[in-house]
Amino acid sequence: MSLTLTTPLRDVAAIGTGRADALATLGLTNVGRLIAHVPTRHERHEAETHIADIQPGRIVSARGEITATRVAGVRGYATGRKGRFEAVLIDHTGRLDLVWFNQTYLRDTIMPGHRLRVQGLAKSRGPGLQIANPRFEILDQRDEPPQGDERYRPVYPAGERVSSHEIESAVAAVLEDALPLIDDHLPAPYLDERALPDLREAYRMMHAPRDEDAFAQARRRLAYDELLLLQLGLQMKRRHLRHALRAPPLRFSGAIDRHIRERFPFTLTPEQDKVVAEIARDLSASVPTNRLVQGDVGSGKTVVAVYAMLMAVASEHQGALMAPTELLAEQHFASISDMLQGSRVRIELLTGATPAAQRESILARTASGDLDILIGTHALITGSVRFASLAVAIIDEQHRFGVGQRATFRVQAGEDHSTDQRPMTPHVLVMTATPIPRTIAISLLGDLDVSTINGLPPGRKPITTRLVSPGQRDEVYAWLAQRVAAGEQAYVVVPAIDTGAASNLRDLREVVARLEQRELAGRHVASMHGRLKPASRERIMARFRDGRIDVLVATTVIEVGVDVPNASVMIIEHAERFGLAQLHQLRGRVGRGDRPSVCVLIAEPATPESARRLDAIVATTDGFKLAEKDLEIRGPGEVFGTRQSGAAPFKIADLGRDIDLLRLAYRDAKAWIEASPTLARPAEATLRRRLLKTHGRHLGLGDVG
Ligand code: ADP
Ligand code: MG
Repeated sequence: MSLTLTTPLRDVAAIGTGRADALATLGLTNVGRLIAHVPTRHERHEAETHIADIQPGRIVSARGEITATRVAGVRGYATGRKGRFEAVLIDHTGRLDLVWFNQTYLRDTIMPGHRLRVQGLAKSRGPGLQIANPRFEILDQRDEPPQGDERYRPVYPAGERVSSHEIESAVAAVLEDALPLIDDHLPAPYLDERALPDLREAYRMMHAPRDEDAFAQARRRLAYDELLLLQLGLQMKRRHLRHALRAPPLRFSGAIDRHIRERFPFTLTPEQDKVVAEIARDLSASVPTNRLVQGDVGSGKTVVAVYAMLMAVASEHQGALMAPTELLAEQHFASISDMLQGSRVRIELLTGATPAAQRESILARTASGDLDILIGTHALITGSVRFASLAVAIIDEQHRFGVGQRATFRVQAGEDHSTDQRPMTPHVLVMTATPIPRTIAISLLGDLDVSTINGLPPGRKPITTRLVSPGQRDEVYAWLAQRVAAGEQAYVVVPAIDTGAASNLRDLREVVARLEQRELAGRHVASMHGRLKPASRERIMARFRDGRIDVLVATTVIEVGVDVPNASVMIIEHAERFGLAQLHQLRGRVGRGDRPSVCVLIAEPATPESARRLDAIVATTDGFKLAEKDLEIRGPGEVFGTRQSGAAPFKIADLGRDIDLLRLAYRDAKAWIEASPTLARPAEATLRRRLLKTHGRHLGLGDVG
């Protein structure tokens, strides 16, 4: 039987059904998938030496048989000593002692009689030789004979039932036969121009590199492919949006502008005016808007969003605003409803918590056009929401949603009766308080336009941030009591803990109980968390806003969007557990009124990283500077939530180190799509197929030409 890329691994004799079943647990079911499962790195393996030839002070590799093992130095939990595992390895020339600290569980893995290959730094110990914490590999009969030369061995993402080593030998069994079967989706001259290896060569060098440089070249090609495919997808989508779709051009006049502004309880700042002008210009055209509005926490993005939605309403269309949390959606609904009081604008709130009957009526009115503005959460982009004529869709706090989420929003446009045959789509505005470096914005969100609100509205007093240790907690709460006595309101934030909401709520209850019994006896303390019913949440927020609650003890549900100007004190418990962006967002809940605000971080930094985060947050309140710091500390993949988005676009490319490659892929994709908008040329068939397979679904490319 001749091998193809779709040959099941079970049918490959050299792999065997047992190993094939184990590989299947990682989704490696056929030859193609196995080849595409690339190592994350390589380990240099020294040439093996006989034990007698080992020189102390060198990294060495040796193989032999285990003759004895023991566990030593276990002192029990109280002292925190986890003990060590020792083993003796012999070959026909001598004896080597091995020791692994804090890994006594190895007693179940390494046993007398096992044959092992080990590598590590050899040291002399007394008369003998020892390697501490060696890398090891248990050998079996099938293993290849000792290696006379140093070489690079791949380290694969492995699983419980299958080790990197087993993946390596399975790959070795098929690699040479499989490589000729791989089609390159990029033409040879194109690759030559960019000094990229062809795909067969890239996979060969990935799985079996001659040296580190070969691995780097292979990685560069595969990373480029990932970046190029996403960029092609985004460019294709953008072109489609601009040429094959249209959005309702909205009317704009001095009268409309005046009308809208009359609704706002304040005058827009020059920065807000600038952004409003950019948006109004976009919305007046029939090319669908795709604009990112960035501005620091508290810079006043909401009112800009409301402006855009009211432009839609002024032209008898609809506006929608999607927020990442129910609490924020409720806040927006409350504050925007306030602004619209006494107008004819019909506005509703739709979240996952909206009762069924009400939901039915809202859906019906949205679909018939009896509703002008719909505020909500993800619930807005579920299939059942149909807008009669959605002209402006706003996604607030975009960084909280993931990369793929926007695509689904667009398709919600309703019926259209004009003679233009192109389907309607709304103008889309994306709001974010996490300033995104342009290259990265492009790479993850596509080629969008960017507006920036610089600075904050006038009259803000600075926020002082203090970092204290848990030992000072009593002092902090005593001081809180004084501030409350002086008429100020405060938030106390407790962390959400991953291991379940229950322990988290107990934390919250503990703090509430303590404050009620001690420092804040006789004051109004309330709690806020995600498990409360929406009605209770609304009631509590209203009472907090009216000043009837003094201190709100909350989980991170208050992280985004909550806006109570009189609150001027924030205490964050276990601040070391929060990310930098999160701390900045949380702190942004204070400093919104005319009183100077204080934010106290109670923290015990557990890692150097958490110490750096806390230093950064104390040093500045400037969100743009903090975003840069955050990038520095964590790297862009983490910062922009590509991990949790589900559409995690890259397995190999790394936005931290591949920025140049990203620029190249961006330029290449742009030129490519200009020349061939739908990749319909016969020579592009493989590329197109791979593109749709990788990104078709989450970018919604199914309908693209
Ligand atoms: P964010 O950009 O974080 O979404 P918001 O839109 O919630 O900020 O605005 C923060 C606060 O600033 C709100 O209380 C809002 O009413 C107030 N605000 C916004 N614009 C102005 C302005 N031009 N003048 C005075 N206050 C403003
Ligand atoms: Mg906001």
